Amino acid sequence: PKTIFSGIQPTGVPHLGNYLGALRQWVTLQSEAAKDTTLVYSLVDLHAITVQQDPKQLQQWKKESLAMLLAIGLDPNKSTIFHQSDIPAHAELMWILSCQASTGYLGRMTQWKDKTANEKDSSKKLKLGLLSYPVLQAADVLVHRATHVPVGHDQAQHLEFARELANGFNHTFGGDVLIPPETLISPARRVMSLKDPMAKMSKSHPNPNSRILLTDSEETIRRKIKAAVTDSMDGITYDPEGRPGVSNLIDILYHSDAHPAYSSQDELAKDLADLSMRELKDRVADTVETSIKHIRASYAHFLHDNDHLDSVAAQGAEKAAKSAAITMKAVKSAVGLS
Ligand code: ATP
Ligand code: MG
Repeated sequence: PKTIFSGIQPTGVPHLGNYLGALRQWVTLQSEAAKDTTLVYSLVDLHAITVQQDPKQLQQWKKESLAMLLAIGLDPNKSTIFHQSDIPAHAELMWILSCQASTGYLGRMTQWKDKTANEKDSSKKLKLGLLSYPVLQAADVLVHRATHVPVGHDQAQHLEFARELANGFNHTFGGDVLIPPETLISPARRVMSLKDPMAKMSKSHPNPNSRILLTDSEETIRRKIKAAVTDSMDGITYDPEGRPGVSNLIDILYHSDAHPAYSSQDELAKDLADLSMRELKDRVADTVETSIKHIRASYAHFLHDNDHLDSVAAQGAEKAAKSAAITMKAVKSAVGLS
């Protein structure tokens, strides 16, 4: 039997990178799931508050993110869908794992180094929660005994850490209390920002034109792709190092196409070679619009059904609480807490 676990932060409307890198895979895993596969998907609101959030805004984002998980095709009868903070066991296991986690290892994490790069001179501003973010993430995965975790490339390092924590815990306390999970990286592992193709597309980046939201209208999608940073070289070639902007557009085209006729981005790029940049952008916009328009329509429908959203969250919390309780019992007994 397999258990799939993954999470997304309610830090804004999910974008094309979230979809191609993670969410689309969640839905595929749901549709391919065998009878003995458990699917657990969380809106990780405790992670969201590792950076300052406006409380009203966070509440709204939680609701929007839940509506989005339904809009992409997750089915609450097949998948457990819940808000992380509804299940105290996540924070409780995090504390226990914190007592095993190395601060040196945490300080070397890319996300910590990136998010704190600008605050180097002021340790007052560096928050403990941001440093220990990967410990909470490990607890999320381990508390549900996940065997497989589908994520984008940026989370690979955190999952490596989760495996080491699980193995370390098992080594220290004996037995196989925690299950070291496997990472499932989607083929669209890293969709880049439309404004800075050296950085990944992110919900929290200040420039809204750097990302395509799953709620963007066709017109907005076209406008953002038209304004994407490329280069002034002639013709279209796939060269992520030398031509990151153009290559990101080719990646987006390649991964958005529901019926890919090409076996690689290079092969696709050969067919695009004679297009102008404008023509390439039109083609990318057409394909993106076709691949996400059904989500936009479905989202508008779910967002306004408050009763349904509340009942999905309650149903999810009930299932997640049961799942987490099994692990907590074993963990507390192993550590000597019960
Ligand atoms: P934030 O800026 O608030 O961290 P985010 O866009 O990075 O937002 P997360 O909620 O942190 O989104 O991540 C949700 C999932 O989406 C994770 O599995 C992550 O690996 C994946 N993901 C995020 N950005 C990208 C991207 N640009 N390309 C591919 N996958 C991505
Ligand atoms: Mg992120």
